Amino acid sequence: MEVVIVGNGILGLTAAYKLINRDKDIRISIIGPDNNKGCASLAAAAMFNSFAELDGHTLSNEIDRKKFLFNKSATPYWPDLLQQLEHESGRKIEHGFGTFIINNHVSDDLEDENFDAILNGLREFYEPYEVIAPNSIPKYKPAAAARAGRAIFINREGWVNPISLMAGLKEILFKSGRVKFVNDYCNKLYRKGDLVSSVMLASGILVSGDVYILSPGATFTNIINESNLELDFLKIFYGVGCSLLLRTGPDTLPNCIRTPNRGLACGVYSAPQNQTDTLVGASNLISPEPFENARITSVYTLLKSAMEQINSDYYRSDLVKVNVGWRPTSEDTLPMIGKTSITNLIVATGTKRDGLHCSPVISDYLADIILTGKSEQDMKLYTPEREPVRMYTREEAIQITVRHTINAAYQHDFIPSKGRMVEDLEKYYSDDLNKLHDQVGAYDWGIPPEMINMYRYGHISNRKTVLQ
Ligand SMILES: Cc1cc2nc3c(=O)[nH]c(=O)nc-3n(C[C@H](O)[C@H](O)[C@H](O)COP(=O)(O)OP(=O)(O)OC[C@H]3O[C@@H](n4cnc5c(N)ncnc54)[C@H](O)[C@@H]3O)c2cc1C
Repeated sequence: MEVVIVGNGILGLTAAYKLINRDKDIRISIIGPDNNKGCASLAAAAMFNSFAELDGHTLSNEIDRKKFLFNKSATPYWPDLLQQLEHESGRKIEHGFGTFIINNHVSDDLEDENFDAILNGLREFYEPYEVIAPNSIPKYKPAAAARAGRAIFINREGWVNPISLMAGLKEILFKSGRVKFVNDYCNKLYRKGDLVSSVMLASGILVSGDVYILSPGATFTNIINESNLELDFLKIFYGVGCSLLLRTGPDTLPNCIRTPNRGLACGVYSAPQNQTDTLVGASNLISPEPFENARITSVYTLLKSAMEQINSDYYRSDLVKVNVGWRPTSEDTLPMIGKTSITNLIVATGTKRDGLHCSPVISDYLADIILTGKSEQDMKLYTPEREPVRMYTREEAIQITVRHTINAAYQHDFIPSKGRMVEDLEKYYSDDLNKLHDQVGAYDWGIPPEMINMYRYGHISNRKTVLQ
């Protein structure tokens, strides 16, 4: 079997790895630029987080809960997988397990709620954790006003250096002699009847195979728009994210330290990358177009957060690199994974902010459906050709978005006046969001908080409502 994989991020590489391990005759071409432009996987921390990502509403919302369980199912894969990849590649892949969650008071009480949600989730699923004194966290030295009041240690949630992980995977694939890396972009796919017949590269070359995996991250919609496949997919947006690589020397953390999720973002986190470097992340800007550079407000906020909330000695660190990656974010914010109505076309994208962590589960599923036509894993929720899943009622979505917006303002230096300013702002945002919902015809469903501006500026049109 000849498989063509479009996209050389973590989903493309892990899919190829699973396929060559399970079928000794398979041949694979992986198409993607050698410089990995916009690659989310390489800008990631990369944290293996499930419980650390819980929000106040995650476990009470049916869809969010399913997504959490999917994410959680990836955690047990990593310790053995990393060992195996290190062994097969002969390379060191820096990683570690154990994550500190701090509850500081830099933003508002949304953060306290999310910290409580993490604690409740850990208890509900009997996940091991320890309550610890914040001042006992190694290399944690926040500024006085930003010190945490509470902290926990989640034993099994860890991190990996994504650069050494991807390099290790490439090495193994290359050494297998059955995987060819094509340094090019896929411009479009050609359809002939019920099948994709070939992909056209930017250089004009055509590449064909028996099966096609379309996993180009956030550029998915561009390729679909060029291809005329007569399939209807949700749009994938660019979740432009910036992370900073700091040379922290003796102040390098032995473990991840992070806050709970914050409004419209994933909080502040810091993850070791090796003995001397720490990665601090991350910003998120949803856009229909790619941005190649980071906005200075993102860099400013991350530098300030690192020095104030993680370790005040980072003032003397070198800023080694500003990473920019595009999180593939679908219009209903859920992944798009699986078969399509074109028999030999499989899609894998839309993993937003946890695709690296989930990649062992996703790649197992892709290998299952390619090699056996079926899988024991239930990925129905992520069917690529779907109507948008409506996760929230209108009232829930408006309430969540108002809270996220105010919380996000605190992350960007908001100091309200002494008076009713916050209540007035809440009313203003709530009225504005009600109007927007009326304008787009969202009466019995709510717009996901991240997608407010995509609806506001007409980048998403309303479709038939599907209540799950
Ligand atoms: C700042 C940041 C922090 C993150 N932190 C975490 C984290 O801690 N944990 C976690 O699990 N996830 C994290 N994520 C999310 C995670 O990175 C993504 O969910 C995941 O990496 C997506 O993988 P992918 O293979 O689908 O896409 P990508 O990693 O984006 O890879 C797509 C690849 O395809 C290439 N490509 C683009 N267009 C074409 C084309 N036309 N033809 C061929 N190739 C093409 C790109 O150059 C790229 O190399 C983070 C993301 C960002 C941006």
